[in-house]
Amino acid sequence: MDQTREQLPFDILFVGAGPANLASAIHLMELAREKKMKIEVGMIEKGNTIGSHAISGAILDPIALKELIPDYLERGCPIEQTECRDNLYFLTRKGGFSIPFTPKYLHNEACLVISLSKFTRWLGGLAEEMGVNIFPGFAGTEVLYNADASCVIGVRTGDKGIDKHGKKKSNYEPGIDLIAKVSVFGEGSKGSLIRDLGKKMDIFSNKMPQVFETAIKEVIEIPESSPFLSAETTVLHTFGYPLRLNKKGGGFLYRLKDNRVCCGLVVALDYQDPFLEPYEAFLRFKRHPLIAEIIQGGKVLQQGAKTLSAGGYYTMPALVANGTVFVGDSASMLNTQRLKGIHTAMKSGMIAAEAIIFALEKNDFSTKTLKKYELGVEKSWIKDERYKARNFTQALSQKGFLKFMHIGAQYFTGGRGLKDPLTIRKDNSTLKTLTPKKANKTKTAVPQHFDGTLYVDKLTGVYLSGTKHEEDQPCHLIVHDTRICETKCFESYRNPCALFCPGKVYEIKEGPQGKRQLVINPANCLHCKTCEVKDPFENITWTCPEGGGGPNYSMV
Ligand code: SF4
Repeated sequence: MDQTREQLPFDILFVGAGPANLASAIHLMELAREKKMKIEVGMIEKGNTIGSHAISGAILDPIALKELIPDYLERGCPIEQTECRDNLYFLTRKGGFSIPFTPKYLHNEACLVISLSKFTRWLGGLAEEMGVNIFPGFAGTEVLYNADASCVIGVRTGDKGIDKHGKKKSNYEPGIDLIAKVSVFGEGSKGSLIRDLGKKMDIFSNKMPQVFETAIKEVIEIPESSPFLSAETTVLHTFGYPLRLNKKGGGFLYRLKDNRVCCGLVVALDYQDPFLEPYEAFLRFKRHPLIAEIIQGGKVLQQGAKTLSAGGYYTMPALVANGTVFVGDSASMLNTQRLKGIHTAMKSGMIAAEAIIFALEKNDFSTKTLKKYELGVEKSWIKDERYKARNFTQALSQKGFLKFMHIGAQYFTGGRGLKDPLTIRKDNSTLKTLTPKKANKTKTAVPQHFDGTLYVDKLTGVYLSGTKHEEDQPCHLIVHDTRICETKCFESYRNPCALFCPGKVYEIKEGPQGKRQLVINPANCLHCKTCEVKDPFENITWTCPEGGGGPNYSMV
């Protein structure tokens, strides 16, 4: 370990201030208080405030919230909508119809619509009141191990004040080594630390590959005259157009407080067409007559994007290793079948807290002792709920009528279906190589018209996400071999990164003599991680930029 760095010791360190880690920290402090244990707990968050990087649909099943904070209403939990009256639509290009039978797992009557950004800020305030030391603006950039790398001993935060050439600026501050008996990773989907940790501690072996979806979401202020504000339905989910039946994903529109709605589209990243552009599909979704009628005359207040770890039960990594546990999206806790994961993320954090207290009492932080967390998850309602959905994402990846046969069979067999387990492919292996004829056509998208208010282009979307980065810092998007972009990737796929990135970060420019060149605009990065997931050559690695950079979400 570099002895010139400051060290800060904690009993427990939480990496990331999302719902899983915040629920875990609150439960941990409660348990410690009950047992009269004095513990030092730290939490780092790469966003500049708690909640500034938190974005989700977000329909919350309050089951874990009620267990954690039974009087959540009295304590000011920010809720956008308590009445969730669902409608599921199949959309065609110009029309669609409401599905008369909605499977039980898609019913949301007992749920709440929230803004994850506001919700995590509220949870963060409670955690701080209970004595958790939260450090926003600090990104964990390296996992620290003991001498033989058999045990996690903490996390190093990123240096600040390094210029784009790697030289120290006048405001240089070295990162700090945060040392802890247990480090809890709740980094969210496709975390950069768990990637490295996974390799060193082998937590992903014998699991199905993790697979992801990209979601783009907006909060839109709509006129009082919008029919949606007086409609019976408050929660609308759609499938079909603009993705068609062979592409996984769907749209959503939820009523919020104060004449606002949230509107979004989720696109599974196992798609095959290199010309598919999730952002453009989202705009087409907004222009569909059913949606356009609701939002017309409206104004986008905020936009954001993220990936979801959608693989489900069979893609869940080992949940513990020596000195560490993984919670929430870091542990692939989302239930794709129910289109929600905040409740499972929170519950995973709470069960982890119970295992950590047990480990503190024993003063033993080995895998063997922390396994209590893994066993707790297996005995909890998380397992019951997710096991029923264990083949769901895989079934959705099937083509044609087979998809519906698998889903139908799973419905009647408690998730087993026609084959158990159903296998799944890694997202970066699914793009189809373009034939010379198709490649010459280049992108075939319908031209979009932007009005800058309701229909905004990518750069305006980045602006509306509040994204800011220190410009003079090393590029946090590592493209390992730019020759691949300029040759093989162009020839086979026409550089899909320029399309799948919702932040317009990647561009291929033609230089002198027609030479192609990759240009990266890292300051636009929304931290969604789509590029690391979908790049067909696994040529892009997302790393943490200087702490405090990135989106500044406040209402998504
Ligand atoms: Fe998302 Fe990657 Fe684009 Fe950043 S560069 S917005 S992580 S796809």
